[in-house]
Amino acid sequence: METLKIGSTGTLVEYLQSTLKTLGFNNGKIDGIFGNQTRNTVLAFQKNFGITQDGIVGNQTWQKLSNYFYIVPTNISYGSNILSINLDGFASKFPFLRQSNIGYSALGKNLKSIRFGQGRKEVFYSASIHANEWITSVLLMKFLENLSSAYLNNSTIWGYPARTLYNNYSLYIVPMINPDGVDLVVGNTQKYTPDIYAHAKNISNNYPSIPFPNGWKANINGVDLNLQFPAEWETARRNKFAQGYTKPGPRDYVGPSPLYAQEAKAIYNFTLLHSFSLILAYHTQGETIYWKFLDYLPQNSYNIGRQLSNVSGYLLESTPYSSGFAGYKDWFIQNYNLPGYTIEAGLGENPLPISQFQSIYDKNIGILILSMLLS
Ligand SMILES: [Zn+2]
Repeated sequence: METLKIGSTGTLVEYLQSTLKTLGFNNGKIDGIFGNQTRNTVLAFQKNFGITQDGIVGNQTWQKLSNYFYIVPTNISYGSNILSINLDGFASKFPFLRQSNIGYSALGKNLKSIRFGQGRKEVFYSASIHANEWITSVLLMKFLENLSSAYLNNSTIWGYPARTLYNNYSLYIVPMINPDGVDLVVGNTQKYTPDIYAHAKNISNNYPSIPFPNGWKANINGVDLNLQFPAEWETARRNKFAQGYTKPGPRDYVGPSPLYAQEAKAIYNFTLLHSFSLILAYHTQGETIYWKFLDYLPQNSYNIGRQLSNVSGYLLESTPYSSGFAGYKDWFIQNYNLPGYTIEAGLGENPLPISQFQSIYDKNIGILILSMLLS
C-alpha cells in the first residue's frame, strides 16, 4: 500500500480520512489532502493502537487499519483502489463470500465477482458499467457489507434473515465492470498514470461539448460498454451514428463490433457460465426501472418490475428507443427470456454527488432483497 504523509493527495487520502472519521479519530474535513490536521489524526490513531507515532501511514499503520478494510466508505470518491481495499477486507471479515476474477479491464485490472449464498437460485447484480455512475458500486458494496454482517450476526436485513437468503440463493455481484473508466472520473488516472489520462483527454477532444472527465461513461478506449452486446447491435450503431457518435468518445460509441471490449466480453462469458434467473444492471439517472427489450415478455417480468417499483418509488418504464438496444439487460432478456432490469438510481447530473448515497441506498434496499425473493 502507498505510504501517505504530509503532502499526499487523492482518493486514498480521502479513504484514510473517512476511515479515521468512522473510527472516531477525525473531526476535520474529508478533502483528500494530507495536511497537519490529518497528520494529527494519524498520530492520535497511532497512539491509541500503541504503534510508532510518526504521523506517517506506512506498513504498520496500514496493518492496523486493515481490520476496518471491510467497512465500505459512503462519503468519498470510490475508485478501483478503494474497491480492492474493501474486497481484501471482505476476504478476511466475511470468509463465507466467494470472490473470483471474471476477466480483465483494458488496462489489466481484475474484474471481480463476489458470491453470497449457496442456494440453487442464482441472481446477478452489476454496477458501474458506466464510469461516471460509480456511486452504484458503493451501493452494491455497502449492500454486500450489510448483508454479510447480518449473516455473521445471524440477524435480518430488510426484515429477512440473512442466513435464509444465504441458503436459498446464490447472489453474484460484479461491483465495478468498468474500473478503468471509474478511475478516470474519480481522479486516479490523472494522479497515477498521466499518460493514460492524456490519451483519454485526446479521445474526449472528439466531443468537446461533453465535460471531461465527468461526462465519461465509456471504457478507457472510448467504447461504451453498455452498447456492446449482441442484441440488435446494428440498430444501436445506426441510432448512435445518427446522433453523431461515430468514433471513440466519452460515451455512446458502440465500438467496432459487439463484444469488442474485453470488459463487455467478460460479463457476457460470466453470464453464459451461470443460470441466472434474474439480473439487475445498475445505472444512475432518473429513478426509473427499465424492464423491456423489444417485444420479449419474460414470465413474471412485469409483475416483478411492478413490485420493485412499489418498494422503491422508482417508475417502471419501457426503455426509450434512442437507447433501447445492445445493452447488457437487453441481451440478457433476448438470450434467456427471463427478467432483467436496468435500475436507474438517483437523480441529477453525473457523477451524482456521494451525498445522495443514503437516500439511494434507502430506496434500493427493497429492490436488492426482493429481486432474490421474486426470482
Ligand atoms: Zn448508465
